[in-house]
Amino acid sequence: MNTLPAAPTDYQHFINGQFTDGHSSERLERHSPGHRDVVVSRYLAGTAADAEDAIRAARTHFDEGPWPWSKSAERQQVLHRTAELIRRDADELGLIECLESGKPIKQARGEMGAAAAMFDYAAALARHLYGETCNNQGEGFFGMTVREPAGVVAMITPWNFPLVVLCQKLPFALAAGCTCVIKPSEFTSGTSVRLMSLLKEAGLPDGACNLVTGHGVPVGEALVTSPKVDMVSFTGSTAVGQRIGSLAGEGLKKVALELGGKNPQLIFADTDLDEVVDAVVFGVYFNMGECCVSGSKILVEESIADELVARVTAAAQTVPMGDPLDETVKVGAIINDRQQEKILGYLEQAKAEGATVALGGGVHEQGNGRFVQLTILDHVTPEMSVARGEIFGPVLSVLRFQTEEEAVRLANDTTYGLSASIWTKDLDRALRLSRRVQAGTVWVNTYMQGAMELPFGGYKQSGIGREFGAEAVLDFTEVKNVSIRLGAYQKRWL
Ligand code: NAD
Repeated sequence: MNTLPAAPTDYQHFINGQFTDGHSSERLERHSPGHRDVVVSRYLAGTAADAEDAIRAARTHFDEGPWPWSKSAERQQVLHRTAELIRRDADELGLIECLESGKPIKQARGEMGAAAAMFDYAAALARHLYGETCNNQGEGFFGMTVREPAGVVAMITPWNFPLVVLCQKLPFALAAGCTCVIKPSEFTSGTSVRLMSLLKEAGLPDGACNLVTGHGVPVGEALVTSPKVDMVSFTGSTAVGQRIGSLAGEGLKKVALELGGKNPQLIFADTDLDEVVDAVVFGVYFNMGECCVSGSKILVEESIADELVARVTAAAQTVPMGDPLDETVKVGAIINDRQQEKILGYLEQAKAEGATVALGGGVHEQGNGRFVQLTILDHVTPEMSVARGEIFGPVLSVLRFQTEEEAVRLANDTTYGLSASIWTKDLDRALRLSRRVQAGTVWVNTYMQGAMELPFGGYKQSGIGREFGAEAVLDFTEVKNVSIRLGAYQKRWL
């Protein structure tokens, strides 16, 4: 049954295989975005000392084992078991995410399946981790490359897909033999903490994975600046990513950054409008628009723009929105007041700058939830703030173009480069533009469709590095060159 809890759940840190209150008793209360008077979770406000304890556990385990030296088959087994346990507890985990993040319950449950599948994929990659040999240096010399785990990895994650984003990193780092310290978002820590008990149940040795809840400062920064941490893997906003990148740079740590996006869909007149309408509505309103690959900006060929706007507007009005606990709801509540104010600020600015409101444009009142109306802004121009900023809300901006050249220029006129899509039945044009659009993922005649075998990440200010793909585990390794003399030693100086 999808019901509100009678009492909030209390979560702890997880350090060296034990749940602990750590150094501070201060707790952060989490109110359900869909039911603002209800406290659903309480997390510990971690301190730098808690972060230091977790780092020490991960460091000691990395230096002394056993996880970094375990056989690939053992790692595979632990990762597979964890996937099974996530599936076993998917209803409970999905409910936690629904209550903490405001995302619809059915979607939240589906995301738990995706998280489990990431553990399965990492388990497979764990068996394919080996280096190369260099056998072409004559009889007296032989070389090989050895893949070693990168060390202690700090993982800092956002609130919009709490478990999914963590599972884009953690199983791959564990597959490589790394040990980890996690700092989940202070708004949605519940499922990340629950994952720690599943890892323990699956047989992960104590200290291999640790977690501290709390704010970015002090906990996140303590992880990024610690000399005992070898690598930082961060997903979040571009602003925080810049800060983390520079701090990690000072320590010369490996760093992977998955940041924000402003993702254009280029829609040409020769496309199938039925398909496009569905993709546009799904692309922009999925997860309330709180999505790094949100299709929040469409670039439409002028000749079909009026018809497309009319059809998208009609379709958007049929999307069920409201209480995230309702199984039929597709658009839930906004994460927090700050985000709601940011979205409404963008809407006011767009109106002042001359955009036309085709749908919505304000707060959606329903029960005690925090909702923003599904919104469509037409006649947006490239310099308007809604055309440039990552709004992270249910807001679609419509820009128009006359020529293919203009479409490409508009698509690339952004500081971001996470994803884009191209809608056309002309194969030449689809291929031509997929090469010219500057983004880590380019979809052709589809939107937000992925496979773990394909890499994901950003150009420009959308990030550094890639997740997923056959190389997902390699990012969490160092390469060592082992050079071996064979036969008699040839003196060189003496
Ligand atoms: P955020 O940057 O505010 O916070 C992300 C995490 O960083 C949180 O855990 C936070 O506590 C921590 N943090 C904050 N300041 C820190 C500091 N100084 N040092 C260390 N850690 C710190 O992001 P958010 O609001 O939680 O998430 C939304 C953002 O995440 C959006 O910009 C979205 O595009 C991005 N995102 C990107 C992807 C991707 O794959 N590219 C996926 C999901 C979300």
